[in-house]
Amino acid sequence: MMKNITPSQLAGAAGQWLIFAKDKVLVEAGTTSIPHKPWQELDFLHHYASEVRVLPPLVATTQGAALPVYLIDIGAENIEQPKWEAVPLRTILMAGSDDAFSIAGRAWQYIHFLRTHRFCGQCGAVTEQVDWEMAVHCHDCHHRSYPRISPCIIVAIYHQDSILLAKSVRHKNVNLYSTLAGFVESGETLEHAVHREVMEEVGVKIKNLSYFGSQPWPFPHSLMAGYLAEYESGDIVIDDNEIIDAKWFKLSDLPPTPPTLSIAGQLIEAVIKRK
Ligand SMILES: [Zn+2]
Repeated sequence: MMKNITPSQLAGAAGQWLIFAKDKVLVEAGTTSIPHKPWQELDFLHHYASEVRVLPPLVATTQGAALPVYLIDIGAENIEQPKWEAVPLRTILMAGSDDAFSIAGRAWQYIHFLRTHRFCGQCGAVTEQVDWEMAVHCHDCHHRSYPRISPCIIVAIYHQDSILLAKSVRHKNVNLYSTLAGFVESGETLEHAVHREVMEEVGVKIKNLSYFGSQPWPFPHSLMAGYLAEYESGDIVIDDNEIIDAKWFKLSDLPPTPPTLSIAGQLIEAVIKRK
C-alpha cells in the first residue's frame, strides 16, 4: 500500500525524502545519505506536491517506525538546484546503514513498479494506482498487477579451508571477487537453482546445501536467497559469458570481496566463521 498525501498533511511533513530522477536519487551535495527535511525547505519540489507518496514503514528496520518516508518521482526531469545533486541508488544503498539500504531499496522497487505498469499488460488501457494495496488496476478488463519480485539464489561454496569465489563480467574493471548468484527459473526449486547455477557458471558439483538467509536486492527487483554449500567434485570450468575468473581462495588470504551489508559479504563471513 502506498498512498498519495493530502495538501494539509504535506504542509507539516517532515521526514526522509527519496527523490528519484531517472535511476538516481537527489541528495544534498557532498552527502550520501537520504535527506531529512521539512517540506517547507524543499521549495524546488513544490510543483510536485500532488505527486508526493508516503512509503509505509517496514517492521524490520532497526529503528522501527522512526521517520516517515516520502517519495517523489521526477522521472527524466533535470533539476538544477544549488547544493543538491543526483547520485546513483547504489551509492545510497552502500553508504553503510541497514535502514538506508532497506528504505531506499524498497522505495526504488515501488517507483520502478509504477513506472513500468502505467498501462495494462492484458488490454493496454491506462492503469490506476490502488490506494489500499501496492498494486495498479485496469478498469477496462479488471486485470490487477503487483510489484514483480524475482527470486535469485546466491551461494558460497567451501572446501576445507578454501572458498570458491568468482569475478563477474560486471566487475571486469574492479578487483572484486564474490559468491555465485543467478535467477531462479520458472518451475525450479531454490535448491535446484543453486545446483544448476553452480554447474553452469563454474562446472563443479556441490553437496550439503544449507539455507543462510535472504535479502531484497533492488536492481531492479530481486530477492536473494542465500545458501552455503560444500564442494563435492569437479574442476572449475567457467562460463565466460557471465564470469571472467573463478578460483579457490584460502580463507586466510582472500581477495577484495563485497561489504557485509550485502548478503554476498555475509555469506563469505559465514564461511570464515565456520572454520
Ligand atoms: Zn486491462
